[in-house]
Amino acid sequence: MKPRVRFAPSPTGMLHVGGVRTALYNWLFARHQGGTFILRIEDTDRERHVEDAVEVITGGLSWLGLNWDEGPFFQSDRSELYRQAADKLEAAGLAYRSAKGAEEKGEALVFRAGAAEVAFSDMVKGEMRKPAEDLVDFVIMRSSGYPTYNFACVVDDMDMGITHVIRGDDHVENTFRQILLYRALGSDMPSYAHLPMIHNESGQKLSKRDGAVAVTDYQEQGYLPEAIVNYLALLGWSPGDDTEFMTVPELVERFDMGRVRRSPSRFDFRKFAWLNSRHVQNTPVEKLAALLGPLVAREGLEVKDEKWFAALVGVQRERISLLSEFVPASTYFFRDDFEYDEKGFRKFIMKDPGREVLRRVVERLGAGEFTEHGVEEMLKQLAEELGVGFGKVAQPVRVAVSGRTATPGIFETLMLVGRERSIERMRRAVEAAGTGASG
Ligand code: GLU
Repeated sequence: MKPRVRFAPSPTGMLHVGGVRTALYNWLFARHQGGTFILRIEDTDRERHVEDAVEVITGGLSWLGLNWDEGPFFQSDRSELYRQAADKLEAAGLAYRSAKGAEEKGEALVFRAGAAEVAFSDMVKGEMRKPAEDLVDFVIMRSSGYPTYNFACVVDDMDMGITHVIRGDDHVENTFRQILLYRALGSDMPSYAHLPMIHNESGQKLSKRDGAVAVTDYQEQGYLPEAIVNYLALLGWSPGDDTEFMTVPELVERFDMGRVRRSPSRFDFRKFAWLNSRHVQNTPVEKLAALLGPLVAREGLEVKDEKWFAALVGVQRERISLLSEFVPASTYFFRDDFEYDEKGFRKFIMKDPGREVLRRVVERLGAGEFTEHGVEEMLKQLAEELGVGFGKVAQPVRVAVSGRTATPGIFETLMLVGRERSIERMRRAVEAAGTGASG
């Protein structure tokens, strides 16, 4: 039988990376086996669901590529189903009304835990067991008429034919109770996989204090969805060898619940950024250019030539880990009014042979062949003539055309800045050096 799994978030207004990891493991499990992935919004706590909070979930999952086959279903639309199941349990004497446990006036419906122990075999944690004396009666319908989480969850999982419940470790206690409900409602229980918690660097549960936890924060910072999926897949699972960089199809192919770890996973921001840089490098230039275009426009910078922009993206692709790093690393390609790095200006332009280098490069750049190769030959020859190392000619040029001491390769930088603008910028630097102004 093909598996049917679900992701069942509450609409809290935020999609937490822990929630995404749960969604992802469900999704990978379903896709690996050709099963069905269902989205269910657990909104019984609320009078009605808030549209925006649902949009955060559906928008986030869609952006990540975690598409669902059925749903989204809303528990708030399904009250009738819970009421019927509750009536059935009450009629069979398996639940009773009590004013105890009711938050308001009226009576709650309380489930009789009975006197049998509960055991199950977890796909991650192995054999789990709870003696009968540790299981006490619990509320399934509140006095307000709304079902509790445990009850709605079981009624829905039964109704939706869920075969595997994959969720966080923090639900283990709920699982024992839910198994009692399956028994009472006369149904087989699904298989369970409880995923290890996500910890911060100091071994506590990952929280807002540790940095970004909402998927939108990562989107904003310039993480790619493929990288988020890759990183979260590794947060609790490994393919069994040292492979870390994996594309989504590779993850689908290799994912295996048997290799999910039992111990908590540590969220490592640096590794995440590193993995993102790998995915940035793996993204075709045209696609990356389409993602970066809006970020460039947002800063008021203008792309005048698409081919030029693609070339720039191709060069910077190797150098950025987050998309948000692109604009700050590239402003001088767009605008002439950059400031000089003060130390660099003093060291490479004010000091000899800085100005002399720039004067000669200006002369020769106007005449010679303006290609990477042509410029390379010209700068090498100049270094020889002046009897200095290559760096002594490259650095003045670099600082003059970019304001910075570190840029992409000097030849590609010049090609991207262009002949006229490069000459213009070098003249300006010589002038600034004459007046001693580096700002
Ligand atoms: N609404 C629950 C949560 O967000 C669902 C848990 C489950 O998967 O059963 O934690």
